[in-house]
Amino acid sequence: MGSPSISVIVPVYNNESSLPELHRRLTAVLSGTGMPYEVVFVDDGSRDRSGEILGGLATTGPSTVVVSLSRNFGQHPAIHAGMSAARGSVIILMDADLEDSPEDIPVLLAPMIEDPALEIVFSTFDDPEGPRKRLSSAIFHRVFSRLSRTRIPRNLGTFRAFSAKVRDALLEYPERSAVYGPLMSQIGFSSVTVEVSRSAPVGRATSYNLRKRLSLAVSSLIYYGSALPTLVLTAGTTLVVLSSGYLAVVVGAYALGQRALPAGTVLLLSVSLLTSGVLMLSVGVLTIYAYQIFKEVLGRPRYHVAARRGSGLP
Ligand code: UDP
Ligand code: MG
Repeated sequence: MGSPSISVIVPVYNNESSLPELHRRLTAVLSGTGMPYEVVFVDDGSRDRSGEILGGLATTGPSTVVVSLSRNFGQHPAIHAGMSAARGSVIILMDADLEDSPEDIPVLLAPMIEDPALEIVFSTFDDPEGPRKRLSSAIFHRVFSRLSRTRIPRNLGTFRAFSAKVRDALLEYPERSAVYGPLMSQIGFSSVTVEVSRSAPVGRATSYNLRKRLSLAVSSLIYYGSALPTLVLTAGTTLVVLSSGYLAVVVGAYALGQRALPAGTVLLLSVSLLTSGVLMLSVGVLTIYAYQIFKEVLGRPRYHVAARRGSGLP
């Protein structure tokens, strides 16, 4: 790395109440590092006053770039837009709601400055969040780590630093439904994990409801793990082996004249219910894949940029 420069990427979706303070604290911390920097805000179709506030920051603040998407596309397409715009040799990704503290940026940078060959610094956090949010993220992480067999530390945050090389690698992934959290845990490169503190979010608690988070979990599983079909196949095989084994024993005992057959209807009904259950499950998984393949085949743009304001690193 030559002389390092920093790009901070912040996806923004309805964060009007935290943006001014976020920008102020970011500017203070970043100018304190003595490195050239830029802050890239991606307005992901906010419906509150975020766009207006960002417009003001782009014209008054130094090194502030605002990329406005044409509508709400979601956090990960917004991150893609931010990574495409970032020019720094080190990229920092953080949420806009001040759950991540700008003051922790030097903590993320320190390992990279110490070892210039280091490519990724992940962060984990102590969790002061509400029980509902914690439950849904915990389910997400638990299910994902288990099923995808990817080792992901508990409480892994979006807050992280990575090199331009890693950014380029991430941008090479053509899939429309890229989820950068799990993707970054799978692409390799040298990494370390540091612990940071987490504050309560400023503004609304989260823009994810259980449905949005579950659909994120499903995309992650489809794209970054082969566990879903494996699970269904295992379940199907187990049921077939168990039920045919049971039938063989029952019918065998009957044929040898040792026993009468058990009540037939009950037996048949339960077996056929189990079998159709497995079939429906498999068809369900196929449908999920077919839908995702359909989306990928369409190859639609991930997002549209409606406007770009401000100026960042050269
Ligand atoms: N976000 C986004 N588009 C969306 C939803 C969220 O750009 O459709 C951004 C949001 O502005 C924030 C980050 O993604 O900077 C994480 O969102 P949030 O804080 O609501 O999620 P959580 O804290 O529950 O992970
Ligand atoms: Mg948040």
